[in-house]
Amino acid sequence: MKDRYNRTIDYMRISITDRCNYHCVYCNPDKFKFLSHNDILRYEEILDICKVAVKLGIVNFKVTGGEPTVRKGYLSFLRQLKQLDGVKQVTLTTNGLLLDPHTMEELKDIGIDGINFSIDTLESKKYALICGKDTLDTVLNNLLYGVSIGLNIKINVVVGPLFTINDLESMIYFFKGLPVSLRFIELMPLGSNKRENKIEEVQSYFTSQYDIEEITEKLGNGPAHYIRVKGMKCVIGFIEALHHKYCHECNRVRLSSTGQLKLCLFHKNSIDLKPYIDDEEKLEEVMRESIYMKPEQHHFEDEQSGTVMNQIGG
Ligand code: SAM
Repeated sequence: MKDRYNRTIDYMRISITDRCNYHCVYCNPDKFKFLSHNDILRYEEILDICKVAVKLGIVNFKVTGGEPTVRKGYLSFLRQLKQLDGVKQVTLTTNGLLLDPHTMEELKDIGIDGINFSIDTLESKKYALICGKDTLDTVLNNLLYGVSIGLNIKINVVVGPLFTINDLESMIYFFKGLPVSLRFIELMPLGSNKRENKIEEVQSYFTSQYDIEEITEKLGNGPAHYIRVKGMKCVIGFIEALHHKYCHECNRVRLSSTGQLKLCLFHKNSIDLKPYIDDEEKLEEVMRESIYMKPEQHHFEDEQSGTVMNQIGG
């Protein structure tokens, strides 16, 4: 469907849990207070919302969290979502710790359209410092297994205060020969995070050190822009919510684990869909009217948002 600014909305990010097996420093470090299980939507309820979303033209879904893989039954949920009539793409964003080879095979069988691994550094100690667990090797092994069986894999690197050019160089060295997307994400000033300009340094590094070519065709459902680097198999992406505001082409809405429809990551307002789940017609009406009113743009550059990342899923 189109919203009032004529943007096509065809993508929904679904947070299936606020719980996480990591405690990343930039996510919501001080306020980890988990929701009660009773407040979290059941999978059937999420699927009911997705059915209505499909009717409205939202056909691409990203499953996220918290950490989606810590919720019991998530694989079966992904399978059902993928099999819903009209659904085009189902992708997963994860830290990858629980995606052992057996699980990767199952994800392949489900027909998952992509898996985003969040890995901010390849230095084990720094990795543990950022996320609270010394588990980098397991995550990398899981990722490499996924690549070996032909899954579509993206690596999300948040360019936060601890990120250095050494991190960038080791990432390039590790991923350059693999058919993956390596994406650098500008840190969003949520919670206690301050604005950073490091994403510009990362871009300049590529332009000054390498022979690059902009990729004009759209890869994926998100706002990343990509470059191809001569001699590298991986493509490089940049997601810059602040430096390059992409609100005019924003195609997404978010569903929180408690059933709140959030129309913009920045804006505090959200619409509680829970009361309407049993009434498909009313649910459709509420979703249609709410999405139509999606805010024109975020204002991260001016002020802080009240968004809590582990509840809304990035
Ligand atoms: N647990 C999963 C994971 O690790 O990918 C999914 C949830 S996590 C909130 C989704 C993505 O949001 C991750 O790639 C994470 O790095 C990113 N993220 C969290 N806080 C962020 C912030 N302040 N700015 C930019 N990205 C952020």
